Amino acid sequence: MTPLPSRAVIREVGLRDGLQSIQTVVSTERKCEWIAEAVAAGQTEIEVGSFVPPKLLPQMADTSDVLAFAKTLPGLKASVLVPNLKGAERAIEGGAHLMILPLSASHAHSLANLRKTPDEVVDEMRRIRAARDAEGSTTLIEGGVGTAFGCTIQGQVKHSEVLRLMQALLDAGADRVSLADTVGYADPASVSRLFEQALKIAGDRFCCGHFHDTRGLALANVFAALQLGVNRFDASLAGIGGCPHAPGASGNAATEDLAFMLQASGIHTGLNLSRLLSLRAKVVGWLDGEPTHGTLWRAGLPKTMAEAVL
Ligand code: ZN
Repeated sequence: MTPLPSRAVIREVGLRDGLQSIQTVVSTERKCEWIAEAVAAGQTEIEVGSFVPPKLLPQMADTSDVLAFAKTLPGLKASVLVPNLKGAERAIEGGAHLMILPLSASHAHSLANLRKTPDEVVDEMRRIRAARDAEGSTTLIEGGVGTAFGCTIQGQVKHSEVLRLMQALLDAGADRVSLADTVGYADPASVSRLFEQALKIAGDRFCCGHFHDTRGLALANVFAALQLGVNRFDASLAGIGGCPHAPGASGNAATEDLAFMLQASGIHTGLNLSRLLSLRAKVVGWLDGEPTHGTLWRAGLPKTMAEAVL
Protein backbone atom coordinates (compact mmCIF):
# COMPACT_ATOMS: atom_id res chain seq x y z
CA MET A 1 0.00 0.00 0.00
CA THR A 2 1.23 3.52 -0.84
CA PRO A 3 1.95 5.52 2.34
CA LEU A 4 -0.61 8.26 3.03
CA PRO A 5 0.33 11.68 1.62
CA SER A 6 2.16 13.91 4.12
CA ARG A 7 0.05 16.93 3.15
CA ALA A 8 -3.40 17.49 1.73
CA VAL A 9 -5.40 20.48 0.54
CA ILE A 10 -9.04 21.03 1.35
CA ARG A 11 -10.71 23.13 -1.33
CA GLU A 12 -13.63 24.96 0.23
CA VAL A 13 -16.77 24.66 -1.92
CA GLY A 14 -19.38 25.80 0.60
CA LEU A 15 -19.73 29.18 -1.10
CA ARG A 16 -20.68 27.47 -4.37
CA ASP A 17 -21.88 23.88 -3.93
CA GLY A 18 -23.27 24.72 -0.50
CA LEU A 19 -24.97 28.07 -1.02
CA GLN A 20 -26.38 27.25 -4.46
CA SER A 21 -28.54 24.48 -3.03
CA ILE A 22 -30.13 26.34 -0.14
CA GLN A 23 -32.79 29.00 -0.11
CA THR A 24 -31.09 31.63 2.04
CA VAL A 25 -29.23 34.20 -0.05
CA VAL A 26 -26.04 35.20 1.76
CA SER A 27 -24.99 38.81 1.10
CA THR A 28 -21.84 39.68 -0.81
CA GLU A 29 -20.43 41.29 2.31
CA ARG A 30 -20.87 38.10 4.34
CA LYS A 31 -19.45 35.92 1.57
CA CYS A 32 -16.34 38.11 1.58
CA GLU A 33 -16.15 37.88 5.37
CA TRP A 34 -16.40 34.09 5.10
CA ILE A 35 -13.58 33.99 2.54
CA ALA A 36 -11.32 36.32 4.55
CA GLU A 37 -11.80 34.27 7.73
CA ALA A 38 -11.31 30.98 5.88
CA VAL A 39 -7.99 32.30 4.61
CA ALA A 40 -7.09 33.42 8.14
CA ALA A 41 -7.84 29.84 9.25
CA GLY A 42 -5.34 28.57 6.67
CA GLN A 43 -7.52 27.78 3.65
CA THR A 44 -5.63 28.36 0.40
CA GLU A 45 -8.13 27.21 -2.22
CA ILE A 46 -11.75 28.36 -2.31
CA GLU A 47 -14.43 27.95 -4.96
CA VAL A 48 -16.05 31.34 -4.59
CA GLY A 49 -19.11 30.99 -6.82
CA SER A 50 -20.53 30.01 -10.14
CA PHE A 51 -21.00 31.94 -13.39
CA VAL A 52 -24.52 30.77 -14.12
CA PRO A 53 -27.37 33.07 -15.20
CA PRO A 54 -28.61 34.95 -12.08
CA LYS A 55 -32.19 34.03 -13.00
CA LEU A 56 -31.34 30.36 -12.45
CA LEU A 57 -29.32 30.84 -9.26
CA PRO A 58 -29.81 34.23 -7.58
CA GLN A 59 -27.50 33.02 -4.77
CA MET A 60 -24.59 33.21 -7.27
CA ALA A 61 -25.47 36.56 -8.89
CA ASP A 62 -22.56 38.36 -7.18
CA THR A 63 -19.84 35.91 -8.22
CA SER A 64 -17.86 38.61 -10.11
CA ASP A 65 -17.71 40.80 -7.01
CA VAL A 66 -16.85 37.92 -4.70
CA LEU A 67 -14.11 36.79 -7.09
CA ALA A 68 -12.69 40.32 -7.26
CA PHE A 69 -12.52 40.40 -3.46
CA ALA A 70 -10.94 36.92 -3.24
CA LYS A 71 -8.21 38.03 -5.63
CA THR A 72 -7.11 40.71 -3.16
CA LEU A 73 -6.16 38.05 -0.58
CA PRO A 74 -2.50 37.05 -0.97
CA GLY A 75 -1.88 33.35 -1.46
CA LEU A 76 -5.51 32.41 -2.11
CA LYS A 77 -6.32 30.42 -5.22
CA ALA A 78 -9.87 31.41 -6.15
CA SER A 79 -11.85 29.10 -8.41
CA VAL A 80 -15.28 29.35 -9.99
CA LEU A 81 -17.66 26.89 -11.57
CA VAL A 82 -18.52 27.56 -15.20
CA PRO A 83 -21.36 25.66 -16.91
CA ASN A 84 -20.42 26.76 -20.43
CA LEU A 85 -18.29 29.03 -22.62
CA LYS A 86 -20.18 32.14 -21.56
CA GLY A 87 -19.40 31.45 -17.92
CA ALA A 88 -15.78 30.68 -18.82
CA GLU A 89 -15.46 34.05 -20.54
CA ARG A 90 -16.53 35.73 -17.30
CA ALA A 91 -14.06 33.65 -15.29
CA ILE A 92 -11.25 34.62 -17.67
CA GLU A 93 -12.28 38.27 -17.54
CA GLY A 94 -12.36 38.15 -13.73
CA GLY A 95 -8.93 36.53 -13.61
CA ALA A 96 -9.97 33.41 -11.69
CA HIS A 97 -7.05 31.16 -10.85
CA LEU A 98 -9.09 28.14 -11.90
CA MET A 99 -12.41 27.42 -13.58
CA ILE A 100 -14.20 24.12 -13.25
CA LEU A 101 -16.41 22.83 -16.04
CA PRO A 102 -18.73 20.15 -14.63
CA LEU A 103 -19.65 17.16 -16.74
CA SER A 104 -22.17 14.56 -15.62
CA ALA A 105 -21.17 11.05 -16.60
CA SER A 106 -24.84 10.13 -16.24
CA HIS A 107 -26.53 11.08 -19.51
CA ALA A 108 -29.88 11.56 -17.77
CA HIS A 109 -28.40 13.82 -15.06
CA SER A 110 -26.44 15.75 -17.70
CA LEU A 111 -29.60 16.50 -19.67
CA ALA A 112 -31.53 17.48 -16.54
CA ASN A 113 -28.77 19.61 -15.05
CA LEU A 114 -26.88 21.09 -18.00
CA ARG A 115 -29.31 20.44 -20.87
CA LYS A 116 -26.46 18.88 -22.81
CA THR A 117 -25.21 15.36 -23.36
CA PRO A 118 -21.83 14.57 -21.79
CA ASP A 119 -20.20 14.62 -25.22
CA GLU A 120 -21.63 18.07 -25.90
CA VAL A 121 -19.95 19.19 -22.67
CA VAL A 122 -16.68 17.81 -24.02
CA ASP A 123 -17.21 20.02 -27.10
CA GLU A 124 -17.75 22.98 -24.75
CA MET A 125 -14.41 22.16 -23.07
CA ARG A 126 -12.74 22.44 -26.47
CA ARG A 127 -14.29 25.89 -27.03
CA ILE A 128 -13.34 27.02 -23.51
CA ARG A 129 -9.74 25.94 -24.01
CA ALA A 130 -9.59 27.81 -27.32
CA ALA A 131 -11.05 30.94 -25.71
CA ARG A 132 -8.60 30.76 -22.80
CA ASP A 133 -5.62 30.37 -25.11
CA ALA A 134 -6.84 33.13 -27.46
CA GLU A 135 -6.97 35.54 -24.50
CA GLY A 136 -3.51 34.51 -23.29
CA SER A 137 -5.16 33.93 -19.91
CA THR A 138 -3.51 31.96 -17.10
CA THR A 139 -6.84 30.66 -15.72
CA LEU A 140 -6.48 26.90 -15.34
CA ILE A 141 -9.28 24.64 -16.57
CA GLU A 142 -10.50 21.65 -14.58
CA GLY A 143 -12.94 19.12 -15.99
CA GLY A 144 -15.02 17.79 -13.10
CA VAL A 145 -16.68 14.47 -13.88
CA GLY A 146 -19.76 14.23 -11.67
CA THR A 147 -22.28 11.47 -10.90
CA ALA A 148 -19.22 9.26 -11.23
CA PHE A 149 -20.63 6.60 -8.93
CA GLY A 150 -24.23 6.65 -10.07
CA CYS A 151 -27.14 9.04 -10.16
CA THR A 152 -30.64 9.42 -8.82
CA ILE A 153 -32.21 9.64 -12.29
CA GLN A 154 -30.33 7.04 -14.29
CA GLY A 155 -29.13 4.77 -11.51
CA GLN A 156 -25.95 3.00 -12.53
CA VAL A 157 -23.14 4.86 -14.26
CA LYS A 158 -20.46 2.59 -15.68
CA HIS A 159 -16.87 3.18 -14.64
CA SER A 160 -15.85 2.69 -18.27
CA GLU A 161 -18.07 5.63 -19.27
CA VAL A 162 -16.66 7.82 -16.49
CA LEU A 163 -13.13 7.05 -17.61
CA ARG A 164 -13.95 7.56 -21.30
CA LEU A 165 -15.34 11.02 -20.54
CA MET A 166 -12.37 11.89 -18.33
CA GLN A 167 -9.99 11.02 -21.16
CA ALA A 168 -12.15 13.02 -23.58
CA LEU A 169 -11.98 16.10 -21.33
CA LEU A 170 -8.19 15.84 -21.18
CA ASP A 171 -8.01 15.42 -24.96
CA ALA A 172 -10.28 18.46 -25.37
CA GLY A 173 -7.87 20.67 -23.43
CA ALA A 174 -8.61 20.37 -19.71
CA ASP A 175 -5.47 21.14 -17.69
CA ARG A 176 -6.68 18.76 -15.01
CA VAL A 177 -9.60 16.55 -14.04
CA SER A 178 -11.44 15.53 -10.90
CA LEU A 179 -14.14 13.07 -9.90
CA ALA A 180 -17.30 13.80 -7.96
CA ASP A 181 -19.79 11.61 -6.17
CA THR A 182 -22.55 14.14 -6.66
CA VAL A 183 -25.31 12.20 -4.93
CA GLY A 184 -23.53 10.11 -2.31
CA TYR A 185 -23.58 6.71 -4.03
CA ALA A 186 -19.87 5.96 -3.58
CA ASP A 187 -18.33 3.61 -1.03
CA PRO A 188 -14.66 3.17 -0.17
CA ALA A 189 -14.25 0.02 -2.27
CA SER A 190 -15.73 1.62 -5.39
CA VAL A 191 -13.61 4.74 -4.80
CA SER A 192 -10.49 2.57 -4.71
CA ARG A 193 -11.45 0.86 -7.96
CA LEU A 194 -12.44 3.97 -9.93
CA PHE A 195 -9.75 6.30 -8.63
CA GLU A 196 -7.02 3.74 -9.35
CA GLN A 197 -8.13 3.65 -12.99
CA ALA A 198 -8.52 7.44 -13.12
CA LEU A 199 -4.96 7.91 -11.85
CA LYS A 200 -3.70 5.56 -14.56
CA ILE A 201 -5.38 7.76 -17.19
CA ALA A 202 -4.68 11.22 -15.82
CA GLY A 203 -1.58 10.79 -13.61
CA ASP A 204 -0.57 14.15 -12.12
CA ARG A 205 -3.45 15.82 -13.93
CA PHE A 206 -5.90 14.05 -11.64
CA CYS A 207 -6.36 16.71 -9.01
CA CYS A 208 -9.32 16.29 -6.67
CA GLY A 209 -11.99 14.10 -5.09
CA HIS A 210 -15.45 15.51 -4.33
CA PHE A 211 -17.67 13.45 -2.05
CA HIS A 212 -21.16 14.20 -0.80
CA ASP A 213 -22.05 12.81 2.59
CA THR A 214 -25.61 11.80 1.72
CA ARG A 215 -25.17 8.35 3.21
CA GLY A 216 -22.46 9.14 5.72
CA LEU A 217 -19.52 7.76 3.75
CA ALA A 218 -17.79 10.94 2.57
CA LEU A 219 -14.86 10.70 4.99
CA ALA A 220 -14.44 6.97 4.41
CA ASN A 221 -14.36 7.70 0.68
CA VAL A 222 -11.73 10.40 1.18
CA PHE A 223 -9.63 7.90 3.09
CA ALA A 224 -9.85 5.38 0.25
CA ALA A 225 -8.62 8.06 -2.18
CA LEU A 226 -5.84 9.14 0.22
CA GLN A 227 -4.57 5.57 0.19
CA LEU A 228 -3.97 5.96 -3.55
CA GLY A 229 -2.04 9.22 -3.02
CA VAL A 230 -4.83 11.70 -3.91
CA ASN A 231 -4.30 14.78 -1.75
CA ARG A 232 -6.86 17.41 -2.68
CA PHE A 233 -10.52 17.18 -1.63
CA ASP A 234 -13.51 19.44 -1.92
CA ALA A 235 -15.42 20.10 1.27
CA SER A 236 -18.08 22.45 2.51
CA LEU A 237 -18.07 24.23 5.86
CA ALA A 238 -20.80 22.76 8.09
CA GLY A 239 -21.43 20.24 5.28
CA ILE A 240 -23.96 22.55 3.66
CA GLY A 241 -25.37 21.80 0.23
CA GLY A 242 -27.25 19.25 -1.80
CA CYS A 243 -28.30 18.83 -5.40
CA PRO A 244 -31.52 19.98 -7.07
CA HIS A 245 -31.78 16.66 -8.93
CA ALA A 246 -30.92 14.42 -6.00
CA PRO A 247 -33.69 14.40 -3.40
CA GLY A 248 -32.36 14.03 0.12
CA ALA A 249 -28.77 14.69 -0.94
CA SER A 250 -26.79 16.34 1.80
CA GLY A 251 -23.77 18.52 1.26
CA ASN A 252 -20.13 17.72 0.83
CA ALA A 253 -17.89 16.32 3.47
CA ALA A 254 -17.85 18.95 6.22
CA THR A 255 -14.63 20.98 5.94
CA GLU A 256 -14.00 20.99 9.68
CA ASP A 257 -14.56 17.23 10.04
CA LEU A 258 -12.33 16.45 7.08
CA ALA A 259 -9.61 18.74 8.43
CA PHE A 260 -9.87 16.96 11.75
CA MET A 261 -9.59 13.51 10.18
CA LEU A 262 -6.56 14.54 8.13
CA GLN A 263 -4.73 16.17 11.02
CA ALA A 264 -5.57 13.34 13.42
CA SER A 265 -4.07 10.98 10.82
CA GLY A 266 -0.85 13.02 10.76
CA ILE A 267 -1.54 14.66 7.38
CA HIS A 268 -0.59 18.33 7.29
CA THR A 269 -3.35 20.69 6.12
CA GLY A 270 -2.13 24.08 7.32
CA LEU A 271 -5.56 24.63 8.85
CA ASN A 272 -6.34 25.96 12.29
CA LEU A 273 -9.24 23.82 13.49
CA SER A 274 -10.30 26.18 16.28
CA ARG A 275 -10.61 29.04 13.81
CA LEU A 276 -12.53 26.83 11.39
CA LEU A 277 -14.97 25.91 14.16
CA SER A 278 -15.50 29.59 15.02
CA LEU A 279 -16.15 30.39 11.37
CA ARG A 280 -18.54 27.45 11.14
CA ALA A 281 -20.56 28.85 14.04
CA LYS A 282 -20.73 32.26 12.36
CA VAL A 283 -21.85 30.86 8.97
CA VAL A 284 -24.45 28.58 10.59
CA GLY A 285 -25.82 31.70 12.30
CA TRP A 286 -26.23 33.39 8.90
CA LEU A 287 -28.08 30.43 7.42
CA ASP A 288 -31.12 30.86 9.58
CA GLY A 289 -32.34 27.34 10.18
CA GLU A 290 -31.04 25.76 6.94
CA PRO A 291 -29.89 22.16 7.48
CA THR A 292 -26.24 21.89 8.44
CA HIS A 293 -24.12 18.83 9.05
CA GLY A 294 -20.86 17.71 10.55
CA THR A 295 -19.86 16.26 13.88
CA LEU A 296 -16.72 17.89 15.24
CA TRP A 297 -18.54 21.03 16.41
CA ARG A 298 -20.64 19.04 18.90
CA ALA A 299 -17.78 17.92 21.14
CA GLY A 300 -14.95 20.14 19.88
CA LEU A 301 -11.34 19.06 19.63
CA PRO A 302 -10.01 16.27 21.81
CA LYS A 303 -7.59 17.45 24.50
CA THR A 304 -4.77 15.57 22.81
CA MET A 305 -5.07 17.78 19.71
CA ALA A 306 -6.21 21.13 21.00
CA GLU A 307 -2.72 22.40 21.82
CA ALA A 308 -1.07 21.08 18.68
CA VAL A 309 -3.11 23.18 16.27
CA LEU A 310 -3.06 26.55 18.00
ZN1 ZN B 1 -21.15 18.62 -5.30
